[in-house]
Amino acid sequence: MKKLSILGSTGSIGRNTLEVVSHYPDRFKVIGLTVGSNIQLLESQINAFNPEVVAVFDESAAESLRKKNPPVDVLAGEQGVIEVAALDRADMVVSAIVGAAGLMPTYAAIKAGRDIALATKEALVMAGKIIMSEASERGVRIIPVDSEHSAVFQCLNGRDVSEVRRIILTASGGPFLRKSRSELETVTPAAALRHPNWSMGKKITIDSATLMNKGLEVIEAYWLFNLSPERIDVLLHPQSIVHSMVEFIDGSVIAQMSVPDMKGPISYALSYPQRFGDVLPALSLSEARELTFEEPDREKYPALSLTYDALKKGGTMPSVLNAANEVAVEAFLNEKIPFTGISRVVSGTMVEHIALKGETIDEIISASNWARQEAEKVVESFSQ
Ligand code: NAD
Ligand code: MG
Repeated sequence: MKKLSILGSTGSIGRNTLEVVSHYPDRFKVIGLTVGSNIQLLESQINAFNPEVVAVFDESAAESLRKKNPPVDVLAGEQGVIEVAALDRADMVVSAIVGAAGLMPTYAAIKAGRDIALATKEALVMAGKIIMSEASERGVRIIPVDSEHSAVFQCLNGRDVSEVRRIILTASGGPFLRKSRSELETVTPAAALRHPNWSMGKKITIDSATLMNKGLEVIEAYWLFNLSPERIDVLLHPQSIVHSMVEFIDGSVIAQMSVPDMKGPISYALSYPQRFGDVLPALSLSEARELTFEEPDREKYPALSLTYDALKKGGTMPSVLNAANEVAVEAFLNEKIPFTGISRVVSGTMVEHIALKGETIDEIISASNWARQEAEKVVESFSQ
């Protein structure tokens, strides 16, 4: 019986994880859950999964939950979330808090020696070097939940990176794949939130439309698989059936395919190195008929180049890119900037940053906080 803590249990990944867990009640026991503020859903998760302890980031929401006398300890604030993340009774921690808020809890879980099923790519984007070296020092396994990285992980199947020529991350292209760059100026948040193939949290859905998500995934892959940026490519693949590919030095390419459903990679991360039965419906390639691939247009999707720039610059720059993007996505959703303003906010923030080495978590976090303020200024300049 594997004991799990789930960070971000009320989110899209969190809910899918609990669905997987409920299919295999003999294999998993949920011991910790953490959420931002959705105590209503947390309450029903407490009733269904009976964890030992929960944490609510929002202190007043935590207090409201305590008043209802739930049959579980309720911790509060970032400290509470970190405490649940570091529980030494857990065999694995599912890291699924969205954004920079996921960094410290994920780091705490690694420092406590817990294996990680990692969805929160932002943690690796911000502090990949620190996280990977901490994990290797403590013998912690980081198993990717992100579908592309799960695909690469499955294709690699333990092979050494010296046998790899490059990896190819696939991207659906999001809802605006067939729109021109000028049409993108006027797309609305509602339209950007309608992803053709995946149902996900708001932030990653917008990141998928700008391709910032794919850029963040390039940085994530860099740290997970130890490949130089030149060996990480991106192809648009609107059907979202090939989840990514590995090209080996002999020219052979291995791809991983399935219907697009996050329960696939989640279940693989939880069951690794085994596979569970009955996770996904069978893939019918004759029904899909076509699998197509194309190069992304870098003019239309500037986020992609920004992420390669940040990766090459290194140090605190990826943390700045990530924070500026979070502010920009929020501003777009609140209709303060146009869709195309997102990458302008990110680049406008990056040019103001003099990157430091980023060798401590404090340095990474202060760069992130600095970038949030700087990005807010760029956002304000849109309304002047
Ligand atoms: P979501 O918005 O649906 O859920 C986010 C979760 O984080 C919620 O449980 C929320 O309560 C919690 N949270 C938010 N702010 C918090 C804070 N300050 N402190 C503690 N908890 C907080 O997001 P999601 O779509 O599930 O994505 C989660 C992560 O997984 C992201 O990093 C995303 O990039 C990654 N991911 C998601 C998908 C997907 O299909 N949704 C796929 C691949 C990777
Ligand atoms: Mg992904």
